[in-house]
Amino acid sequence: MGSLYQRIRLSLGARALPVGVFVAGVLVSAYAGMARFEHLQAQQAAERQDAAEDYLFLLRHRLALYEGANRDLAALFSASDAIRAEEFSAFVNASRVFQRFDGIRVFGYVARVPAGDVARFERATRREVAGFHLVHPLPAHEYYPVVYGEHAFDPARTKALQGVDFAAFPQRWAAMREAARSGEPVATPSMPTILESQGRSIIQIFAPVVPPGSGTGPASVKGFIFSTLYTDVMFDGLDNGRMARQFDLEIYDGSVAPKNLVHGAARKPHALERPGTAPAYAGAVRFANRAWLIQFHARPGAGDTAPAHAAALFAMAGVLLSLVAAWAMAAWPRYRARRRAMHDFSERFAGFFEHHPFAVYAIDRQRRFLHANHQMLKDLGVERHALVGTRAADHVGIDERGLVERHLDEALAGQAVAYTTRIVVAAGRKVDMSIVLIPMSTGDEVTHVLGFAENITERKEAERTLYASRQMLQLILDNIPQAVFWKNTDSVYEGGNRALLADAGLATDADLIGRSDADLHWKDRAAHYRQVDLEVMQSGVARLRMQALDRGIDGAERWIETSKIPLKDGAGNVTGVLAVSEDITARKYMEQELFRRAHHDSMTGLPNRGYFNGQLEQAVARAQRHGALALMYFDIDRFKTINDTHGHDVGDDVIRMFASRVRAVVREADFVARLGGDEFVLVAEGLQGPGAAAVIAQKIIDAMEPPFQLGTVTLRVTTSIGVAAFEAGHTARTLIRAADQAMYDAKRAGRNCFRVASPESDRSAA
Ligand code: GH3
Ligand code: MG
Repeated sequence: MGSLYQRIRLSLGARALPVGVFVAGVLVSAYAGMARFEHLQAQQAAERQDAAEDYLFLLRHRLALYEGANRDLAALFSASDAIRAEEFSAFVNASRVFQRFDGIRVFGYVARVPAGDVARFERATRREVAGFHLVHPLPAHEYYPVVYGEHAFDPARTKALQGVDFAAFPQRWAAMREAARSGEPVATPSMPTILESQGRSIIQIFAPVVPPGSGTGPASVKGFIFSTLYTDVMFDGLDNGRMARQFDLEIYDGSVAPKNLVHGAARKPHALERPGTAPAYAGAVRFANRAWLIQFHARPGAGDTAPAHAAALFAMAGVLLSLVAAWAMAAWPRYRARRRAMHDFSERFAGFFEHHPFAVYAIDRQRRFLHANHQMLKDLGVERHALVGTRAADHVGIDERGLVERHLDEALAGQAVAYTTRIVVAAGRKVDMSIVLIPMSTGDEVTHVLGFAENITERKEAERTLYASRQMLQLILDNIPQAVFWKNTDSVYEGGNRALLADAGLATDADLIGRSDADLHWKDRAAHYRQVDLEVMQSGVARLRMQALDRGIDGAERWIETSKIPLKDGAGNVTGVLAVSEDITARKYMEQELFRRAHHDSMTGLPNRGYFNGQLEQAVARAQRHGALALMYFDIDRFKTINDTHGHDVGDDVIRMFASRVRAVVREADFVARLGGDEFVLVAEGLQGPGAAAVIAQKIIDAMEPPFQLGTVTLRVTTSIGVAAFEAGHTARTLIRAADQAMYDAKRAGRNCFRVASPESDRSAA
């Protein structure tokens, strides 16, 4: 119970202060933000008022200039007796009226023409202004026609106005009357233009022209200088449009009413639409005998939200500061706890790890060594003071640096890490280390990393040596011509060299491992191979040099020789079979060729005496079980004479032809050999009855009957044959002697015949 209470008190106590700091900070920030907002708003209002006052001043000044321009021109006209159209134009252009007075489009002159003087006036004016005539729709006491005028950019407009009686327009007429009465320029109210149909509003200013010495009063007025003012151009362009962007300007003539709006109608006047809304600023201007009320309405725009933004920013900065303060309050105890824990750790480190068999070290968040035990210093070959405070990454090879940094990052992020690396120690010596990093934390944050490093240089070295020797073995295996492979007890391949892979038509040993013979192109012999594998594995005895006719992957026939050796583990248990297999097709061919050469006569191709001796031995051995063996000796008659008469070459040809005739008449199974010179033998087995041998002998004699045609030489060749039949008790030697004796008998009997040896019993009896 006590501990629970304490824990609650502790956790509340730990949090109450930072939370309090934060809440207080937020409240103060909010209040400060609001105060800031009001202050900024008041400041903005004051700024607006200043701006409006400036603009009002500007407006008054500008309008006074406009009024003055009219007054000055009227004074000029008043002073001179008459001003011609040309002179007027030159004057307007020279004074650059239109450039200087933005919004004034037309300057002109209207003359006062009494009704009775119209015809004379028209005539006189036409001298200057071609085609001039009065446009007077209504009969009147006097007329005020436009005589000439200058337009800012369109001369045709003033041409169209020539002769138009301005007095016919009530607002103009009223302004003219008032101007004549007061002797000062007078403006009309806002009104539509005469010529334009776009509904644009203008005002016109009329300044009386009074000849000198004619006194004052309407009667003495000679005419009026007038100017036409486009209010929208004039007021929108004021101060290069800056005012129009900041304020909606509304100008009323006399009082605030729709009909009195001089400017601002296009923008839904605030004063009329929302009568309650007070203008930012209001003022009055007297202009050409008119009292204008001017209202400045602040335009909704960029500046409006500025105070709110600024205040919000202000408040937010406050909240942020509160948060930082609260965090600092909360973090302080943790920081102190961490300091204490680190201190404790430092004290204990030496006690725990100083004599640990591994190198043990501690690294702080800046990745610097904090502590290192005795083994660590020994492994690195450095003094303690040279290690503590240095960066961990500086003690590994440049290639390993990234790896070490990464693992430290992982450990500092709270993960235990194990890896191996190569460390450069004193004098550039390199040491392989197996390292385990353990994150150590105080509270919920990793403050340092504890590292255990085992020196595995020797183990690594042994691994490398083993790897190298394996590589060497593989190199040897891959470079011998024999196919080498090994299988497990199920005859599943566990490896093979390059020659085996080539035989099997595989690219890598990965294609081989795990397969059995049934999966490879020699699958039709798989059952046989499996049987041999089993035999070797079960007996535990190798089977060497097994030769077999096989087919390669290209389908060509080939001889292979395979040796299979049982594989055993340390305890002597058979674990599989190792095989070496070789293509011996070439060797086989050589062997056969050598055999053929050793056992045959090169002249006739028949077996030679050595071969015959062996064969006869075997035949005699067989005859001892089955009987039925005959041996014939035969020799060409009087061969010496052939040699002597026709030469040795013909003699050789006779021997070859003789041999081929013999081969042609005997059975395939009969063994014919040339013993040398002109001597031949025939071994015949499995003869049916005693007469069979005699039949063969006669066939040979008959075969020589046709003459031997050798080039240009034609010869008669005969042979004498001795036949001996096998009898019980015969050996090869006694059989030969019997046949030889029988042939001698045939020679003596006159040749070209055969004689059969009399049975051994008769002979020995004789
Ligand atoms: P016979 O009827 O008694 O057998 O009389 P022959 O003349 O045939 O006498 P013999 O069989 O004793 O002589 C064989 C001769 O064959 C002796 C030798 O000069 C000759 N000879 C041996 N080998 C060859 C050979 O390879 N080529 C040739 N052209 N002559 C050979
Ligand atoms: Mg002979």
